[in-house]
Amino acid sequence: MKGTVLYGPGDVRCVDVREPKILKPTDAIIRLAASCVCGSDLWPYRGLNQIKEPMAMGHEYCGIVEEVGSEVTTVKPGQFVVGSFCLSDNSCPHCQFGFQSSCVQREFMSGAQAPMARVALADGTLVALAGKPSPDLIPHLLAVSDVLGTGWYAADAARVLPGSTAAVVGDGAVGLMGVLAAKQMGAGRIIAMSRHKKRQALALEFGATDIVSERGDAGVARIKELTSGIGADAVLECVGTDESMHQALKSARPGAMVGFVGVPHGVQLDGEFMFYTQVGMLGGPAPVRRFLPHLIDLVLQRKISPGKVFDLELPLSDIAEGYKAMDERRAIKAMLRV
Ligand SMILES: [Zn+2]
Repeated sequence: MKGTVLYGPGDVRCVDVREPKILKPTDAIIRLAASCVCGSDLWPYRGLNQIKEPMAMGHEYCGIVEEVGSEVTTVKPGQFVVGSFCLSDNSCPHCQFGFQSSCVQREFMSGAQAPMARVALADGTLVALAGKPSPDLIPHLLAVSDVLGTGWYAADAARVLPGSTAAVVGDGAVGLMGVLAAKQMGAGRIIAMSRHKKRQALALEFGATDIVSERGDAGVARIKELTSGIGADAVLECVGTDESMHQALKSARPGAMVGFVGVPHGVQLDGEFMFYTQVGMLGGPAPVRRFLPHLIDLVLQRKISPGKVFDLELPLSDIAEGYKAMDERRAIKAMLRV
């Protein structure tokens, strides 16, 4: 079959790869309904994360179970499943505490920018739907697997409460999903920080009430202005740079939480600054598995449409263009027909 392999900075190709096989009795093989490119795929694509050898790309997925290992009991061939990009047993103490992305058996999904993929720890990772979803729901279910789950975690970690004011730093796909999540959690006001017209429009569609186009200290000043000098009750940091993290911390009111889900690159925090800022932080790889049943439900009931974040659709053979368009910010998120 054809699959996506990253060979080095800027060099991603759709090439012949081996079909996935059951390697452990807890594995499942799924036939993907669709796949997509993640913002985090751009780190190695841009050469900011070094890769030692060619890497099978793709960690967002949903589709039909093709085969399961002998110990798998909760999913069976023919079922439509959605899983998390973090593979977890869903039974260890960290999983039971709701942090499946720190599972003692954690693995990260790979090789999902392909027609078929192997999912380790299938029982703890996959959630099966009762029936086959209508085809128009596929993009939305695919989004649940990572981008929505991650934006949701940012809002959950930032403790967005009904009626509260949430600020979202970052207008990438995850930031936009953070806006959607804050809206679902009942935030009264959602301030999206973005200076791109198309992304601002989508943020407003997902529930943003205010747009701040300034960045850095000017952006912080604008948020203070919008909140009578107080700062936001909850801040979602969805970028991962030093500037965005400081923007998030300075935009939060004392006692607030910053949920940070952008993988930090070069973030430096000063202890004294943190002490006097009096803002809490919780972040990391999102425990999407905790949210999967609820998010799948919201999609199936058509209460949310996270798949609107896909503004480019390509066949898998055009994978290089998908990466390029996202790298150049011509596309928010590329969906792949596999
Ligand atoms: Zn676990």
